Amino acid sequence: MASTHDHGPTNEECADFLERIMRLIDNELEEGDCAVVRAHIDTCNPCLERYDLQRTVKALVARSCSEKAPVELRDRVRVRIQEIQVRITET
Ligand SMILES: [Zn+2]
Repeated sequence: MASTHDHGPTNEECADFLERIMRLIDNELEEGDCAVVRAHIDTCNPCLERYDLQRTVKALVARSCSEKAPVELRDRVRVRIQEIQVRITET
């Protein structure tokens, strides 16, 4: 009765997915895994947020190779990532 199983993924699952989300962005995931991760992102708002954030960072980093990305912006993004990762590992 007290089951929260239908309430969505657990934090543990999401922490596990975060690693695969990063690899998905890096195109290092196998096709089968990609489908699993994408399906999770589709149903999990926090992970979608992380996915978007990671992609933003990637784009920022890539851009900063050719032109100088504003340091202030980069720092702000980095702080947000740390906040999110702390939230995942501590809850
Ligand atoms: Zn998730």
